[in-house]
Amino acid sequence: MHNQLIQYLTHLVKINSVNPELSSDGQGEQEIGECVNRHFQALGISSKVHTITGDRCNTTAFIPGHNPDKILLLNGHLDTVGIEGMDDPFTIRRDGDKLYGRGTYDMLAGCAIQMGLATYFADQPSPISLAFTFVADEENLSIPTLSVLPFLGIFMEPTEEAIGTSHKGYTWFEINIDGLAAHGSRPEEGINAIFPLQYALKELEIINHELDQEDPHPYLGKATLHPGIISGGTAQSVIAAQSTLNWERRTLPGESQQKLNGELNRVIEAVRNAPGNHKVSGEKVYHRPPNEIEDDSLIQKLQKTAGGKPFKGMSYWADSALATGAGIPSILFGPAGHGAHAIDEWVSEKSLINCYESMKSFIT
Ligand SMILES: [Zn+2]
Repeated sequence: MHNQLIQYLTHLVKINSVNPELSSDGQGEQEIGECVNRHFQALGISSKVHTITGDRCNTTAFIPGHNPDKILLLNGHLDTVGIEGMDDPFTIRRDGDKLYGRGTYDMLAGCAIQMGLATYFADQPSPISLAFTFVADEENLSIPTLSVLPFLGIFMEPTEEAIGTSHKGYTWFEINIDGLAAHGSRPEEGINAIFPLQYALKELEIINHELDQEDPHPYLGKATLHPGIISGGTAQSVIAAQSTLNWERRTLPGESQQKLNGELNRVIEAVRNAPGNHKVSGEKVYHRPPNEIEDDSLIQKLQKTAGGKPFKGMSYWADSALATGAGIPSILFGPAGHGAHAIDEWVSEKSLINCYESMKSFIT
């Protein structure tokens, strides 16, 4: 099976599955989703490609177990980031234990592990049912229609074989400041919409400092925020009639919406009270929740089969938060490697095999 796992990974990497929303080279997941689907069909396992739009799709499959209502959800995203600056991104290159190629680490290795588990449990009856999900976009969760909710979801993002029981969420905020355009030589005829931004930035700095004073989460550390985009004005010789500030807040489990809204209101108020006759409005533009699940006997069993690696909080956001929110307690677990969004992406072959073996013993 170990050679087969490498073969599956080689096959998956060969197909361009760059996310078309991230890069113009992107071809979407239709081809790779169909390739995964053929793997299941050849094993006689019921599976399906679900087209979302055009070249974006999800693939799902299901193996019923001895105990059909005890379902384990397995998940991986098929899309990868772009390939700019890479020589031969779609061909696996081996250097000792390192398998280089786009998507090897994040996270086609996790998809290859799912394919390996399917091959194994197609012959070997599984005590529990297995719901396999391969999704188009990391923010697109597709779960096959199931009679009961899975008891656990394992999202095979790279975690260096640690058990990722939590990850941060994020919320995007935006404020808009409106002024009045005027000739740069006659500022008294206009209302400057850029000067008040400094009050917003100052307030954000204060809030960030306050967050830094709060007790850290045991696995995730502290909540943070940062201004991401500033825009406004039309020309250097014109008093700017408009400006916008966007910031991102990385959230911890347990932080309330009320607290986040309170921060937005503080920034709006700081700008409103700034000198000038400008107007300000603001809103929350996007939100993805954090994830945290209890460390129970099930999670401890997975930890044991994974060789006793520690629990870990992941700084990045993942689909597992959506599954937990939908009533399927979900964790992250995947191989070691490097270069998730870099040109030198690789996954450790040994770690890939370890993860496969850990998953197999967890299931049986
Ligand atoms: Zn990923």
